Amino acid sequence: MNTFHGIALHASTADFLARPRRLLIDGAWQDAASSQTLPVTDPASGDVFCHVPAGDAPDIERAVQAARRAFEQGDWARMRPIDRERLLLRLADLMEANAQQLAELEAIDNGKPVSMARAVDVALSIDFMRYMAGWATKIEGATMDVSVPLVRDREFFGFTRREPVGVVGAIIPWNFPLLMAAWKLGPALASGCTMILKPAEETPLSALRLAELVQEAGYPNGVLNVITGLGHTAGAALAGHKGIEKVAFTGSTEVGKLVGKAALDNMTRVSLELGGKSPVIVLDDADPTQAAAGAAQAIFFNQGQVCTAGSRLFIHKSRFEQVVEGLAGIANSMQMGPGIHPDTQIGPLVSAAQQQRVMGYIDSGYQQGARAAAGGSTGDGQGYFVRPTVLVDVHDDMRVVREEIFGPVVVALPYEDLDEVARRANDTPYGLAASIWSNDLSRVHRLIPRIKAGTVWINCHNILDNAMPFGGYKQSGIGREMGRAVLDLYTESKSVVMML
Ligand code: NAD
Repeated sequence: MNTFHGIALHASTADFLARPRRLLIDGAWQDAASSQTLPVTDPASGDVFCHVPAGDAPDIERAVQAARRAFEQGDWARMRPIDRERLLLRLADLMEANAQQLAELEAIDNGKPVSMARAVDVALSIDFMRYMAGWATKIEGATMDVSVPLVRDREFFGFTRREPVGVVGAIIPWNFPLLMAAWKLGPALASGCTMILKPAEETPLSALRLAELVQEAGYPNGVLNVITGLGHTAGAALAGHKGIEKVAFTGSTEVGKLVGKAALDNMTRVSLELGGKSPVIVLDDADPTQAAAGAAQAIFFNQGQVCTAGSRLFIHKSRFEQVVEGLAGIANSMQMGPGIHPDTQIGPLVSAAQQQRVMGYIDSGYQQGARAAAGGSTGDGQGYFVRPTVLVDVHDDMRVVREEIFGPVVVALPYEDLDEVARRANDTPYGLAASIWSNDLSRVHRLIPRIKAGTVWINCHNILDNAMPFGGYKQSGIGREMGRAVLDLYTESKSVVMML
């Protein structure tokens, strides 16, 4: 396959698609034990364009054993931190050299605009690997002056060590396939862990290509194993496996709870990055044009399939009409098309199921009295398109206001005062992110501590940085990825007390 929707693919993308795709276990590419495969679908047409192995429990078993061997024996177990840093930097360089190919794989697999994949998914993944490479040599314990109460005639010395947690099972979603893989792999490789990665069944391609680059970088066999497969089979086998020390999960709150319970049964460490219903709060001093542009970016980026999507837009009643009008204008002007087209601004949703889910929510909104100020329907032709949608005439107890839609659908709600908007913004089971649009420093600072969310943006939305911890309050998850905080998820603390 050299072209996709009439667009010439990079030669390396065509080459990757022409090769058979297999599981990576212990450094060897192999078919699933069952020989079964899963189709990979083009979201812009609904056509199947390749297959990947349908890995299952026996494949997970072999991968866990390989990861265990790599963790305990051989080059990886003995590798110096500075050599782990060097390898991660080499991996980042290889990702950079293959940036266009990785972006194209994301675009054809997930449906997202290729320009966004290159500028966001791929660029952030490379930066994150470099950021984590630096941490490999900076994992530290502490020394303590201890006051042992019972043995008064002896001296004691206490210190802590940070040790890699062990074999990590990583389960990731389809919305940012490469970036979510990088968020798990970077800290695991920096801290000396080994990993079994299970990408989402909808978007397995970039994880397989990343695994090739990991091999090319020179990582020992078994350090990274990739098992493509379904969630309730391969994913469940990994989450509940007794032979791993940590589960790193990103996905829906519903599945996150299952994964968390399975992990806890074995006392496996677990971090959960889950769903959201993030508020965008426009104060009365905000410029309506800027607020509308910001709100559009907050919800329509990645077709709204973003855990931090600004899906509840609270606008001060004095600005409501202007902001909604501006937002609807942007929604109507966005160029919809296959992700691989360079001009596309809104691609298809990832799957038929996701399109049906999102349209189901829009219909539920209509039934409960909502009106579409923009969008509200699917695209005209094939593919899983949903037009950028702005719903008005909504109230706080509608499903479209309460539940995560995970599509390009925003509900616009007027409010009157800060106390009211703080209460309504927090009236959700989720707590992943929020944004406030205002230049009134005093009011912004008063609002920040009142918002129950892991990230609060001011005059921007969806801005992530490697140095900033990321994660959720409430049902949006447990743990913080990125920044120094992520090391806590991939290391154990060991206390050492010496009697001198
Ligand atoms: P999902 O929960 O359906 O699937 C996520 C992963 O879990 C997939 O790899 C899937 O195969 C696997 N899985 C499914 N059932 C499983 C089971 N029983 N046991 C083990 N694994 C199983 O989520 P999705 O639809 O792929 O992604 C969308 C969700 O992810 C949204 O809710 C979104 O908010 C969330 N998300 C959160 C973050 C974050 O950082 N907080 C980032 C991206 C996406």
